[in-house]
Amino acid sequence: MVSLLAAAAMFATIDEAAISGLRHAAAICDPRYECGGVVRVVEGGFEASPPISSKLPFGVDLGEFYGPDVVADFHTHICSIHNKPFADFFSTSDAIANQGLHTVGYMLSMCDWNIRRYDPAQDDRDDEEVDFHSGRVLYLTIGHIVGWVPTRFFAMR
Ligand SMILES: [Zn+2]
Repeated sequence: MVSLLAAAAMFATIDEAAISGLRHAAAICDPRYECGGVVRVVEGGFEASPPISSKLPFGVDLGEFYGPDVVADFHTHICSIHNKPFADFFSTSDAIANQGLHTVGYMLSMCDWNIRRYDPAQDDRDDEEVDFHSGRVLYLTIGHIVGWVPTRFFAMR
């Protein structure tokens, strides 16, 4: 008999592994802090690391996870009043990190609960114009939606 844990840990695609990692993060991470992890190539597929947090509202240091077997990383964007306008976009430093490391980035916005994917080899960087009430305009990376996290908030509507 295959153990449930072993069966759940291995995925056929990077997308599935990252989506599972972010659903895990949404379930267990403190919503005040950004949380993230990496996807690794393993024999026969891909697996997601457990989510970790640097206990900061912005940014999570995934340095301890990085190695040659890492193909993607994933992280949450919290939905605080301060970062609500940016939560659905990859930040400039998110996009630069994935470009530099040649990894695919996955991000869960805890505002719209969509999971977005940014692949530096395929997607444009800084392709979305984000307007603020101040009149300031910023260009951020939108990537594209590959999944979502079901939440109790949706059930309440
Ligand atoms: Zn980010």
